[in-house]
Amino acid sequence: MFKPRLKPLDTYAASRSLKHGIRLLCCAFCLLFISNSAAQEQASTEQLRFVTTNSEFTLLHEMGHLLIHELQLPVLGREEDAADQLGFMGLFLIHDRQQTPDFPLRLLDVADYWRLEWQNAKDSEEQIQAWDNHALDEQRFYNIACLAYGSDPKNLEWIIEMTGLPEERAFYCQDEYEQAKYAAFWFREHFKRSHDTPIQHRIKVIYDAPPHHLDGGSELLEKVEASGELEAIAERASSFFELPRNLTLRLASCGAPDSWYNTKTGELTLCYERIAHFRKLARQLPRLNAKP
Ligand SMILES: [Zn+2]
Repeated sequence: MFKPRLKPLDTYAASRSLKHGIRLLCCAFCLLFISNSAAQEQASTEQLRFVTTNSEFTLLHEMGHLLIHELQLPVLGREEDAADQLGFMGLFLIHDRQQTPDFPLRLLDVADYWRLEWQNAKDSEEQIQAWDNHALDEQRFYNIACLAYGSDPKNLEWIIEMTGLPEERAFYCQDEYEQAKYAAFWFREHFKRSHDTPIQHRIKVIYDAPPHHLDGGSELLEKVEASGELEAIAERASSFFELPRNLTLRLASCGAPDSWYNTKTGELTLCYERIAHFRKLARQLPRLNAKP
């Protein structure tokens, strides 16, 4: 999940074979917002990028949980931290940095999401506590900011100023990024399905009805379904890894901005409300429309 109950992430592992599918998925997310009447308030390009990227990160984080459990990946430290790192590295696999000059801003979008969660007032029951299996929102913000800067310190020094990342942490960020990258690529190489092994299990995509409060929800659902994009990414994940059982990817109405992977049922749930939550938060970003 992403929050207390979430258990997300994914597949960065997903590897090159998933790149196309995830890109298509991104387009699906864009459709969700562009066709939404609320989005007709002319959500800016930056807002759409924020929503799309954080939706991607959520899915990748949950796919990470899926792969950790289904492939029985060794995990040192908290699984939630590992899922965040897998999700972060997954963004590098689905975006070609040479073709997407806004990629550093996408990384910053993920960090900014956690900054907003950290700084926005919450009810006590919604606050992440120190004993939780998730890092505090403030820590997740600095962790992502550090990985973003560490991915290219020579060209992304502006991230330090933009995020307020202390130099005491920034000094080690390149090492942190390289460590996460090494783990991600090791995992991909060691757990990919051999071409000699037939595909025995797959991830099935299920669409629940969108929540009534989501403007244009039905229309958006129809477009996503018609595109077949979720099926494409599920199929690519199924074909790249040797999954031990049949699994499910469900786009659901949950009553809360959540997402999780259920290890018992083998079902990954991405909530309509979580995507709507990103749209709401995007309007709060003070740096939107700012250039690095
Ligand atoms: Zn999680």
